[in-house]
Amino acid sequence: MSKTVFIHTPHYHQFDFGRDHPLRMYRLKLTVDLMKALGFYPSEVIEPLLAQRELLLSFHSAAYLDALEKAEEEGTPCLEMGIGTPDCPVFKGCYTLPRLNADGTCKAVEMALENSCWAFHMGGGMHHAHSDRASGFCYLNDPVLGIKRAVGRDAKVLYLDIDAHHGDGVQEAFYNTGQVLTFSIHQYSSGFFPGTGSVEEVGEGEGRGFSINLPLPPHTEDETYWWAYRELFPLVLERFNPDLLFVQFGVDAHRDDPLASLYLSTYLYERVIRDIVDRWSGPMVIVGGGGYDMVNVARIWTIVWGVMNDFELPELLPDSFLRISTMSGYDGPHLHDIPGWSGEEVDSKVKEVVNYLVKAHPFFS
Ligand SMILES: [Zn+2]
Repeated sequence: MSKTVFIHTPHYHQFDFGRDHPLRMYRLKLTVDLMKALGFYPSEVIEPLLAQRELLLSFHSAAYLDALEKAEEEGTPCLEMGIGTPDCPVFKGCYTLPRLNADGTCKAVEMALENSCWAFHMGGGMHHAHSDRASGFCYLNDPVLGIKRAVGRDAKVLYLDIDAHHGDGVQEAFYNTGQVLTFSIHQYSSGFFPGTGSVEEVGEGEGRGFSINLPLPPHTEDETYWWAYRELFPLVLERFNPDLLFVQFGVDAHRDDPLASLYLSTYLYERVIRDIVDRWSGPMVIVGGGGYDMVNVARIWTIVWGVMNDFELPELLPDSFLRISTMSGYDGPHLHDIPGWSGEEVDSKVKEVVNYLVKAHPFFS
């Protein structure tokens, strides 16, 4: 087990995307509450500060940063840059919050590389932001900014993205380089955001073979997902042999998530994080991402932090947390839920995609 670092600030909890927006910062507070109730919350927490413009310019355009600053200061939207849409509204702190996220993830990368440790920054993971456009609740792409820090130190980075949505902004940023391999496992179905992430997107030029996508049909559940993950991830990790493993651990593929239609249980997430820490002892950054059922977010990210630290996971949620989680619609009392099964049809579709990847994707062939 490697040393772990926790990056968080209670300032995150105060931001509000608007009453009807699905991304609630309260989910982070709930996670902190559950970690504290279980005695998992670390005594030392690294606090993100405001990322400076120079750092942000390593990926984002100056005009876009100006527009974000104006949105925050004057409340002015900039629709051609995606600022002021229902997904990415102008709100109080719409530049401050992403700057904190960006600094937190860059700190995570630096600490992981310098101390060869594992850093967890659940406020990060805003993988949809583009260089000059806000998208999918994301304004600044903290994974890209963090990975660029690592690339600047000549590190080879493996980016694993298990959010229900394709990690489009990160894939796009590193599409032409072989120094960063992006591997995204996501729902892929008609009309589902963002619409990219097919098996055919494999990277270009020197990056050819270094973008891997595993698109999944709706209702993919634990056993099928686990089989697919195990067929591919160990092979990718071993062959690519990165200096830094960067994981976007969005949890909206959980079966109760209101925005996606995958069918995972909390057990699947525990299996994935256990597999990762069993296989990998080098520098690692884990960031958050999607997750719109707040108690599920709290349960899963607590499991992630618990496994990273080799804490014993309880079967039941503590009473003090149940009093809060009941108000958020979870009647408990278990930390885990029961895995489901979606049938042979979904299973055989996924197996077909995995077999195709192993046979036809330039990374594997
Ligand atoms: Zn998502």
